[in-house]
Amino acid sequence: VLLFILVLFLIASIWLSYSMSKKAMIPIQRAYRQQQQFLADASHELRTPLSVMNTSLDVIELENGEDFSPYTREVVSDMKEEVGRMSRMVQHLLMLARSDSGSVEFEMVSFDLVPKVSQWVLAFEAVAHKKQIMITTRLPEEMEIKGDIERIKQLVYILLDNAIKYTSENGTVDVALGSNPKQWYLSVQDTGIGIPEDGKQRIFDRFYRVEKHRSREEGSAGLGLSIAKWIVEAHRGSIEVESSLGEGSTFIVKFPHV
Ligand code: ADP
Repeated sequence: VLLFILVLFLIASIWLSYSMSKKAMIPIQRAYRQQQQFLADASHELRTPLSVMNTSLDVIELENGEDFSPYTREVVSDMKEEVGRMSRMVQHLLMLARSDSGSVEFEMVSFDLVPKVSQWVLAFEAVAHKKQIMITTRLPEEMEIKGDIERIKQLVYILLDNAIKYTSENGTVDVALGSNPKQWYLSVQDTGIGIPEDGKQRIFDRFYRVEKHRSREEGSAGLGLSIAKWIVEAHRGSIEVESSLGEGSTFIVKFPHV
């Protein structure tokens, strides 16, 4: 009888603690979901005015560009750069909210990555040129892979954006692609400021920035690499960094052939 009462008591206490923890979870879960929804809605809403601003700047440049004074030309180009940076941040926030809610579908297709990478690199030529940074590429003739084109583009953009952002004038950024029978890889190497030893793992965490002050000036939120890691892992790949302070960094992404 004593044993029976003890077992009954045990069951009752487990049930009680379970139901209490469940009750406590509900408001927390609801608050978390509301926060996620807010993040998704806010970043979605911000995309439209930003794209209007971008188009308006293009129109101004197209219609009046030839009459611009050197000062106005510089102002318009700075504005375009800032709008672009803000759009990327908003896109990162939106991506983050979507990845958390599990609502991102990866569209895996077979395609040749080489012309795509050449095209994506081209999009960074202007900003690199402004800092006198040279972008070089080492690409094979062709490289057929299977993956989500938009997401891989986002990954390359994050790595290139960082490489240029954290490299000072007259530096170089090198983009390479390669493959072996087991896997394919992409590397982005820069001659920039480098990453300290204790930051090498943490840079892939959300909102982590090595130099908070400097990164904020560059308009960074510390989200890019966490999104890059999420994209890589969704393709069952891995991302790592080799870096020496003051000498530069190399980000290497490896993907299995699927
Ligand atoms: P951010 O938007 O701040 O660049 P990321 O998540 O892309 O966010 O990067 C996190 C941090 O890692 C950056 O703030 C920066 O300190 C560091 N970092 C990323 N890429 C590089 C790089 N190529 N060279 C030096 N530091 C880098």
